[in-house]
Amino acid sequence: MNVLAQRAGWSRLPLRAAAFVVLTCATILGVSGWREWAARDAVLKGAETEMANVARSLTQHAEDSLDLLDSGVVGVVSRLEMDGTEPATIAKLRNLLEVRKKAMERVHSFAIIDDHGNWLTSPGTIGATFSDDAFFRHHQLSPKREPHFGRPVKSLIDGEWVVTLSRRFNKPDGSFGGVVLATISSKYLSHFYEQFEIGRNSSVALTHGDGLIIARNPSNEKYVGRSVADAPLFRDASLQRPSGAYHFKSPLDGAERVSFFKRSGRYPLVLLATVDREELLAPWRAAAISRMLYVLALVMLIAIIGAVLVRQLQRGQHMAAALIEKEAHFRLLAEGSSDMVTRIGLDERLRYVSPSSIRVVGWRANQLIGTPALAGIHADDLPLVQALVDAMKRGEKEEARVTYRNSHRQNGEVWLESTMRVTRKDNGRVDGVVAISRDITEQKKLETKLETLAIEDSLTGLANRRRFDERLNEEWARAYRDRSTLGLLMIDVDRFKAYNDEYGHPAGDACLRVVAQVIAAEVQRPGDLAARYGGEEFAMLLPNTDAAGCARIGERIRKAIRAAGLVHTTNSASGHVTASLGGATCRPAFERTAGVGTLVEAADQALYAAKEAGRNRLMMSIEVTHLPKAVGE
Ligand code: GH3
Ligand code: MG
Ligand code: MG
Repeated sequence: MNVLAQRAGWSRLPLRAAAFVVLTCATILGVSGWREWAARDAVLKGAETEMANVARSLTQHAEDSLDLLDSGVVGVVSRLEMDGTEPATIAKLRNLLEVRKKAMERVHSFAIIDDHGNWLTSPGTIGATFSDDAFFRHHQLSPKREPHFGRPVKSLIDGEWVVTLSRRFNKPDGSFGGVVLATISSKYLSHFYEQFEIGRNSSVALTHGDGLIIARNPSNEKYVGRSVADAPLFRDASLQRPSGAYHFKSPLDGAERVSFFKRSGRYPLVLLATVDREELLAPWRAAAISRMLYVLALVMLIAIIGAVLVRQLQRGQHMAAALIEKEAHFRLLAEGSSDMVTRIGLDERLRYVSPSSIRVVGWRANQLIGTPALAGIHADDLPLVQALVDAMKRGEKEEARVTYRNSHRQNGEVWLESTMRVTRKDNGRVDGVVAISRDITEQKKLETKLETLAIEDSLTGLANRRRFDERLNEEWARAYRDRSTLGLLMIDVDRFKAYNDEYGHPAGDACLRVVAQVIAAEVQRPGDLAARYGGEEFAMLLPNTDAAGCARIGERIRKAIRAAGLVHTTNSASGHVTASLGGATCRPAFERTAGVGTLVEAADQALYAAKEAGRNRLMMSIEVTHLPKAVGE
């Protein structure tokens, strides 16, 4: 997968999560707000409905009241038209009207008025005339027999505000005979309206069609007779319907009102039931505020949790990015290194192999993954490596370094050096081993060479003096342990100085090489060691060899040197290269006072004796603790 694309996708993730949280919060707020607004609407609609019901029933009540009055008035009109306006008739009718008035609470007064405006039924108020009143003039001028509904006026009887309902009666000749009048008091109506408890700041008002207030609850006294003809209800064309909801700002106190009006179909009456909007909405507002506070708290909680989660997401991303970078570094190291990096599972199979495996063992990484990790190891080295791996798997060893031979696909065998380290899971349990292996074949070769150089004489290829001394000590110790005999031969080329003088130094070297070969050819047992002791002097160490064996070998060497036929004219006796030999043996276990030095000294003395005796001969030192006794040819 493209790392960049992956990263881009990741960096967008917290942004998306944040957007999601914001969207969730906005949705919750939006839905809650919308619901509250709907609840508010429902409250207003409910109020409208309530006001409509009030307006309808109170309009009905007003119509019924006027109908009731009218039925009384109609009766009186027909009696007057039949019986005339004789005082006796009037007196009878007055009594009748008194009874009626008492029976009907809503009737404020009845009056019979003659054609001049005189109040016939109220003798107590003689002189009172209605001739100027609007209703009287209406009937006087209009021949219509319909009832006339008048504007609110102050009663002549007690000064109370009343509305009038009147009808004209005719004289027998059909001319204007007078008016029968009935009134309802504004106070009665407002008392009646008091029964409808529709709130503190709500009101019910009955208004005349021309805008004069007939009755109002509350504060009837204050408003009755006032004109609201300027209000939109009376002026706006859109509001000249029989009924409807009507929202307005009160011209009286500036408060917003929700109201419903109803116009009477039969009388010029408008009933307006209103309620204060603020008051209406107050309970909703209080509940909505507390609900919205809960919602806000919830939204804040979601926002905080969301922010924390987004933060963690970001942090996780940074960590993942750091991990990727770290892994990239690791890969760079593992895959760029010339060393082979491998990861071995608990089943000892390769889980990961770096590309340099092709150089180190000749196999490609994908050819190795899944194969047994120790398969290529040389049989001799396998137990050691296996033991280390086992110990690491058991958790007994944290790391190890091991050198071993491993098969190479093309080069046969290579030396590898592996540094191994245990890998653990998060819970601390070992889950495998990581090994870094390098090819040390060249190094091994060099080491071997150096080792050889350290123990080999460069001119002759025999062991050098250092090696000889080492082996002498070792063999001495072994002979001591085994109670065996250790033999030593010292071999010195005769008159070699003269050879050099005669043939030159390079020829002298060549001669020494031949002598060394001859001596080396006489080495027969693995423990025997031929060495160049120094100059033209050689030594042969013969473990587990008694004096007789030592002498036999020495004699063979002497003869072989002579038989090599190297010309040496100045070597007086034979004219060929010869050597003198001194031999000595020792049983260290039985010679408490003797040491390696004693043995060398004895052999040396025997050699000296051989030289003294005329060269080209072997002398044995029989007992090194005693004076050396030469044994010659
Ligand atoms: P002898 O042992 O018979 O008594 O006589 P010699 O001439 O061999 O006596 P000596 O041991 O005194 O001389 C040894 C000579 O060997 C001296 C030196 O020139 C020569 N020699 C020593 N080492 C080498 C070497 O590595 N190469 C050559 N060409 N000559 C060497
Ligand atoms: Mg010498
Ligand atoms: Mg010599």
